[in-house]
Amino acid sequence: MDRRNFFRVVGTASGGAITGACGRKSEEIIPLLVPEEGITPGVESWHPGVCGECAAGCGILARVMASEREIEVDGERVRQRIAAVKKLEGNPNDPTSGGRLCARGHAGLQALYGPDRLRGPMRRAGPRGEGRFEAVSWESAMQEAAEAIDSAVSEDVERVVFLSRPRADLRAANIAKFLLALGAPPACAVGVRDFAAEMQSAERAYGWRGIPAYAIRDATLVLSIGADFLGGWVSPVLYARQFGHMRRGRPGVRGRLIHAESRFSLTAWNADRWLPVWPGGELALALGLGRALVDLGVSVSPSRAEQTARTAFADVDLDKASAACGIPAATIREVGTELAAASAPVVVAGASIVREHSSDAVAAASALNVLLGRVGVAGGVLPPPSVLADLSEARPSSDGWRERLANANLVMIDGANPAYTSPSSREALENAGTVISLSSFVDDTSAYADVILPDHDPLEREAVALPSASLVESVACSAPFVAALHDSRPADSVLADLAAAVGKPFEPLDARGALARLHASVGAGNEAGASDGFVESALEQGCWQGGPAGGGATGETGLGEFEIADSMVPALFQAYESLQFGAGGGANRPWLQELPDPTSSAMWGLPLEIDPVTASELGVENGDIVRARSDHGSLEAPAYVNPAAIPGVVSMAVGQGHSHFGRYASGRGANPMSLLGDMQDRRTGATAMGPVRVHLERLDKGRALIQFSRQDRDVPPHRV
Ligand code: SF4
Repeated sequence: MDRRNFFRVVGTASGGAITGACGRKSEEIIPLLVPEEGITPGVESWHPGVCGECAAGCGILARVMASEREIEVDGERVRQRIAAVKKLEGNPNDPTSGGRLCARGHAGLQALYGPDRLRGPMRRAGPRGEGRFEAVSWESAMQEAAEAIDSAVSEDVERVVFLSRPRADLRAANIAKFLLALGAPPACAVGVRDFAAEMQSAERAYGWRGIPAYAIRDATLVLSIGADFLGGWVSPVLYARQFGHMRRGRPGVRGRLIHAESRFSLTAWNADRWLPVWPGGELALALGLGRALVDLGVSVSPSRAEQTARTAFADVDLDKASAACGIPAATIREVGTELAAASAPVVVAGASIVREHSSDAVAAASALNVLLGRVGVAGGVLPPPSVLADLSEARPSSDGWRERLANANLVMIDGANPAYTSPSSREALENAGTVISLSSFVDDTSAYADVILPDHDPLEREAVALPSASLVESVACSAPFVAALHDSRPADSVLADLAAAVGKPFEPLDARGALARLHASVGAGNEAGASDGFVESALEQGCWQGGPAGGGATGETGLGEFEIADSMVPALFQAYESLQFGAGGGANRPWLQELPDPTSSAMWGLPLEIDPVTASELGVENGDIVRARSDHGSLEAPAYVNPAAIPGVVSMAVGQGHSHFGRYASGRGANPMSLLGDMQDRRTGATAMGPVRVHLERLDKGRALIQFSRQDRDVPPHRV
């Protein structure tokens, strides 16, 4: 067997070092991917971890099969411990995952064993962006990185840019400490879903800092505006579990779901009623509903927040709002009446597809909960968690990242792929002084790096993460239970070593340190030594759970002015995060490539979704290759004629079209973000995903759409 197919197991999985039959220790404890003769039957064990595939922060359990075999080392027979991580599951103790995982969580295993994972540090060996690298030692790579950091800090520390992901976890806290030690500005979040609109709106409508959670499990009527919560928004496992309870978990009560979105998403598919709003029409719909509630005389309390909401809605022109969102005024009034009559309604306010006015749209939708009196109550919208402020305050924001990148003398990247999610940033990456990546793979962005210092896989490192949404105060945590498969290093210690090398040392926070702080802050016992017990218990459980979430309150609210944009007209293009690949990060996992797309059942590719009317005008059928052209770029992709698409609205899921991302993803399909230019939410700077006007053209290039099933599900045609 090739030794690269093994990796070592440490800690409780191995039970410590193994003594060989001949009395000498085996050199490694390694897991096995394929059977081998002479291996004794394995023993199963489960180890808690934290899913690293999205910001939801689900607690997981890894199933490890361990065994022993005899091998010869230096002419001696020794017994060697071997093991394989065979399966990931949700951690039933964790209040976010509750023992469940989504498809991306399950496929996290294929990142650990990914054949294209970097074996060690790399140095660029060709032009930037070409993706040619040569292996170098850690000493050499660290020296190169430290020299670049030293020179950038001395030249102009304000031009040091750290691009990361919008997570509240141990890594974010250590990146913040690293940048503080250098005297550099905070890290920037880069991606297509950083929840900036949701966070800013929570502050405007409720006076809360962070992402609110919606207790839909206890609601009787859920109106979701722009939040595809069953398709990947914020915390898909948490919301799918809650949705199941809302529908079938209460004898005699079946909660009702109305969903407003510009595509027939998974949430729309599961809804009792779908309101097909024009792309960008979410703000107008929320304002129209607010006006309808004001007209109905809905009034819960004379609070200042309610007065603010009432004032914001009182002058809305319902007919203008209806024209701008594409939903008839009578329907808006009808839904308003339903909301007012429901015993426990809640409005889920989100931006699954970020627009130029998403912050306003989410704020206006959030204000509906204020009018309905559904803030901070059972079955309503609940405040974000307040524990471990070090982690939540370290969550990077997307504000101003493009300008900072364009002016960077040093770019460091951890977990972000701007060359893919914002293709126009490639020019800035090409011109930056030095680019240092901490990626485990050569992806679209690390192809621009001068040096790559590969991070451990999430299963190989310790973790503490705050969930992106939770009904209770909680954290997911883990200690490492497998040693690194390759010559990688945890990015937290790499950052500490780099800071020390340039004379700016800092002490990285580790999992035990973070949990001890949590213990101190929640007052979970004051006796000497109690902290150790708390920390060990949390690590053993893989999580900690406290009482109801209730922090982050600033007390200040202020919705500001809203303005309804002009009516939308076709043909409009929008991109959206795919269920299987998220923002593209899962595309190098063959399990996810093989997973049929929920809309088109496409596999190993993603199509342009075109409505039947437009398709017939263009003479396009399923699988025909179509060119889409906007003012910002063009792409070619197979068409899927989607019976539920809104006429004049073309959609495409994000995930394919990587220039570099290993053997399963590189050069496969098209990147829909290439049609969007630098669109962003006007208030937060978050990357917007449409709409832009496109021109479509059928190409005479045959057909290319692999579908799991050519039969469409019984999709209702678009109707209001
Ligand atoms: S929702 Fe996110 S964190 Fe949870 S299992 Fe799925 S990918 Fe992992």
